[in-house]
Amino acid sequence: MLAKRAAHIDSSGIRKVFDLAQKLEHPVNLSIGQPDFDVPAELKEEAKKWIDAGFSKYTVTQGIQELREKVREKYRKQGIEFEEIMISSGVSGALFLAATVLFEEGDEVLIPDPYFVMYKHLVRLMGATPVYIDTYPDFRLRVEQLEGRVSRRTKALIVNSPSNPTGISLQEEEQKELADFAGRHDLLIICDEIYERFNYDYPHVNIARFHPRTLILHGFSKSHAMTGWRLGFAAGPEEIVNEMIKIQQFSFVCAPSIAQKMGLAALDLPPGKEIEEYRLKRDIVYDGLKQKFNVVKPNGAFYIFPEAPGGDGDAFVRKAIEHNVLIIPGSVFSEKKTHFRISFAADDAVLREGVEILNSLA
Ligand code: PMP
Repeated sequence: MLAKRAAHIDSSGIRKVFDLAQKLEHPVNLSIGQPDFDVPAELKEEAKKWIDAGFSKYTVTQGIQELREKVREKYRKQGIEFEEIMISSGVSGALFLAATVLFEEGDEVLIPDPYFVMYKHLVRLMGATPVYIDTYPDFRLRVEQLEGRVSRRTKALIVNSPSNPTGISLQEEEQKELADFAGRHDLLIICDEIYERFNYDYPHVNIARFHPRTLILHGFSKSHAMTGWRLGFAAGPEEIVNEMIKIQQFSFVCAPSIAQKMGLAALDLPPGKEIEEYRLKRDIVYDGLKQKFNVVKPNGAFYIFPEAPGGDGDAFVRKAIEHNVLIIPGSVFSEKKTHFRISFAADDAVLREGVEILNSLA
């Protein structure tokens, strides 16, 4: 009955965690992959205004022109001129379209491990093969790790900086080296920069500055705490983005109309004070765990990825859940199961409580 492609995907790991978690009444929840602050008031007002104005019909498939122009402008300010831009239903929507138009059976895609889970699932859904690039123990993707892993079937390298689940973000020199490598091997870089604004230690650098064959995926879910409004965008080579627009026409049709108007207003807002607060949350968690855990200090996003005591992340997560702390096993984001993910998008008091319990288990 079912198509074989669905069978390529196994979501049992994360489901097991959520089944366990369901039994908890008031968990110390450090598992959430979205900001704990509210969508900015200006954007709520904008949404209300356009709801009242009846801006509720389909928009053009590629997204409203003003928003595409504003995205173009955003990158121009960083010195990057993209050939084409489309508005999508979140970064997830853009990822799905990109995978659909780019990957097929026989293709290989380089995925730095640990990774955001959707990458491997989408690659496999399209019948292509993920090639995992081990970035343990410091999670910084380097050319040496990629050397020897490229074949004539390799189509793309996925870069996610700042990263979910490690919180590592790459500096300019590191990005330049990766771009040189991709240039030498004629690889497309797919760069997911959804956590761009969550950068605590150095400025965000866009790899497209050094590698023209880059497809940027970005969105408003995290920066403006509007995960439920489903708004993202893709910017890159015309040849790819135009095909994505074509498939969007026959799938998502368009990104939500009201959300597109919110996006327009969002790009005019400076980063909120929340980003500064998230830097402090990063410090609470990192400083709190570093004595007892082997842990790399994250530079961005809102995740930290410590090694589990004894090297078994699955077992440690089960134990944490028994003690009322909800975290995610590293095996969900990796071919290894040695680590676990904490999200610090939570109240400071919750973070302190979580850190204390985890330390007592270590
Ligand atoms: N990329 C990364 C790295 C993410 O962490 C997420 C959300 N967890 C997404 C993409 C998808 O975000 P959205 O579809 O809400 O834009």
